[in-house]
Amino acid sequence: MAQPLKIMHELSIVLSIVDIAAEQVHKAGARQVDRIDLEIGLLAGIEFDALDFAWDVGVQRSVLEGAERHIHKIPARGRCMDCGHEFGIEQLYEPCPSCGQFLVEVVRGKELRVKSLEVS
Ligand SMILES: [Zn+2]
Repeated sequence: MAQPLKIMHELSIVLSIVDIAAEQVHKAGARQVDRIDLEIGLLAGIEFDALDFAWDVGVQRSVLEGAERHIHKIPARGRCMDCGHEFGIEQLYEPCPSCGQFLVEVVRGKELRVKSLEVS
């Protein structure tokens, strides 16, 4: 079980996704979301267990209730600001494997976005 404070973070994210979905459903003149695809970078600060839990709570009685949810996890990549080397990273503050420099810019893996929605 994830900690309540941590879930609050994920819950606020779920609620903002609900807002985005409700707006799209409204724009399309539809009533509900059948399927939602999310892109979440592995360095976006999301705990996936907490997200699952928050999702169940957050989508109740919303346009997303009952929607099929697909999460696309995006592996993280960094670029060394010293030598320009690009490499896969597992966490923030990893040194460049080429030159050992710690000034690494995250170029991928912090995404958190709704990729697509299917409404009806
Ligand atoms: Zn480097």
